[in-house]
Amino acid sequence: MYPNLLAKRAALTPNRVGLRFSGEDWTFDQMYQEATLFAQKLSSKGIQPGMRIAILASSNQELMFALHGCMQLGCELVMLNERLTEEELSYQLADSQADYLLVDSHEKRNLASANIISFKDVYAAIPTQLEIEKEWPRQRTITIMYTSGTTGRAKGVRQSLENHVMSATGSALNIGVQPNDCWLCNMPLFHISGFSILMRSVLYGMTVSLHSKFDAEKAVEEILTGTVTRMSIVAVSLERMITILEKKNLLFPNTFQSMIVGGGPVPLNYLERAIERNIPVLQSYGMTETSSQTTTLAAEDAIRKLGSAGKPLFFADVKIDGEEKIGEICIKGPHVTTGYVGNASSINPQVNGWLHTGDIGYLDEEGYLFVLDRRSDMIISGGENIYPAEIEQVLTKHSAVKEAGVTGRSDDTWGKVPVAFVVLKKDASIEELKEFVKDKLASYKQPVDYYIVEQLPRSASNKLLRRELLNTIKKSPNVD
Ligand code: ATP
Ligand code: MG
Repeated sequence: MYPNLLAKRAALTPNRVGLRFSGEDWTFDQMYQEATLFAQKLSSKGIQPGMRIAILASSNQELMFALHGCMQLGCELVMLNERLTEEELSYQLADSQADYLLVDSHEKRNLASANIISFKDVYAAIPTQLEIEKEWPRQRTITIMYTSGTTGRAKGVRQSLENHVMSATGSALNIGVQPNDCWLCNMPLFHISGFSILMRSVLYGMTVSLHSKFDAEKAVEEILTGTVTRMSIVAVSLERMITILEKKNLLFPNTFQSMIVGGGPVPLNYLERAIERNIPVLQSYGMTETSSQTTTLAAEDAIRKLGSAGKPLFFADVKIDGEEKIGEICIKGPHVTTGYVGNASSINPQVNGWLHTGDIGYLDEEGYLFVLDRRSDMIISGGENIYPAEIEQVLTKHSAVKEAGVTGRSDDTWGKVPVAFVVLKKDASIEELKEFVKDKLASYKQPVDYYIVEQLPRSASNKLLRRELLNTIKKSPNVD
């Protein structure tokens, strides 16, 4: 058993600020009061411990209290992504077999769910007497979270209390915990990148400065005031923040301790530019199935090992499957899910205790992980393996290239050949790009075609959808 996390936190540091949102602060004690009241009201609406509650709401203090409220009642949270289509949402609702759908507003969606209930309905209820549990079983399912659906249908991952606690503890043992820590959270709470910040907050006694969404200007501004010490980010968003600092010729203050970058490949160029702006970037490798980070670079290695996703965190282990140096990344540890729900429940995530990730990478001689790409995105051209991420890395080094996406196109001679899609930030010709990659990539890795596009196809979690790249040509004949 572990203690009821928020109750314990509120007992330890009741007056410390746990949440900051839109200029208002809430202490851990206030958060606990709000959460227990929400739990008592949920209970009077007929919701019982152990029930599965799907939640669809925007990031703000109300969502925070609702999430904590459901946990106080002992419910399993099914985290729904607001940016999904109605078809996708209906699928996840059915697949997760959620007992209720909790929404912040009825008007938002026209979803066919029998047991739909809004925050307003809950607020209006008369609270019942409820015995709040002092301890929670370690194997309790805290969240059911859907993967980003980058490679296919999103899979519902069961994340236990043990998974979350060990993930947060492993991260703390890597980057440390300070009493004045404040983690800026503008990642979605329905994704593990955001939800893991909420878990760390109660475990560490740390303030979460919550933003309703990613706003590069707002995040830079807040960090410049010196109140924020940590932040998590994906590569494209990092690039936006760096550009703002570059344009204004500003540096981050030394109060800011770590910028954890993950969720997908991180171009070296972004990492180098971040360091010039005094942003202590730490590349990290994680996934929904591991309730956030498995490896993260340590601060002292940030420059020496730039480009690596670091070593496994304290409780985690990583190995490369296969005889070769490069192979499938496998993960072991108490943060690894025990299984999927719904349609994916037949997939066993662990083979002899190891999670096979579907990602390709290698460990260098010192044990640092380098993530190359997803196995499913690998291009096999004339018998050679090509990793799109490597080509994208090179392209983003060009001063006119903002973002790049590479995929394989069928070819009679080679089987597949790489083609590139680029978003420009200033004028550049395709000839120039071709010339640029010539001495940086072996000839079989050089894209045979280039398409200059306005934007790259991205998933609801803002991940590059390489499998959609070729479709963008079909949709808009004028792209090149
Ligand atoms: P799905 O499993 O539905 O296809 P997804 O794998 O994108 O979607 P997530 O769990 O959100 O869903 O993302 C985890 C994946 O993100 C990893 O398996 C890996 O492919 C990628 N990733 C995370 N961190 C990194 C990194 N540092 N470098 C490269 N890729 C990364
Ligand atoms: Mg995945």
